[in-house]
Amino acid sequence: MISRVEFSRGHMNNIYCPFCGQRVLDLDFTADQSANPCLHTLFVAHDYEIEYLSDELKEIYSVSSADQLEELDSFENIDSFTNNIDLKNAVKFAQYEGAPRDMADMWVSFKQMK
Ligand SMILES: [Zn+2]
Repeated sequence: MISRVEFSRGHMNNIYCPFCGQRVLDLDFTADQSANPCLHTLFVAHDYEIEYLSDELKEIYSVSSADQLEELDSFENIDSFTNNIDLKNAVKFAQYEGAPRDMADMWVSFKQMK
């Protein structure tokens, strides 16, 4: 199981890589997109879409795109699926919206490189 950190519900934060400090989930959309992956990023996902999937994860699941991953039989939703990722030195940050619902649930995961 991947290490998992859950932020307070109902409060969405920008998420910074714990290893290099890059703003990987950018809710201010500084560069017109929310996902700004660094070399430690495993995935950036929200309720509706996997925005970024690392080459390492594509290799592990033998897929060439995030869309293919979502079509796997073992794929229920990104939260449960990614909880089962078994990688050393990896951590997953989870944010769940509160009421009133105005933002998706979001997950960002990082892995420390040697
Ligand atoms: Zn990083």
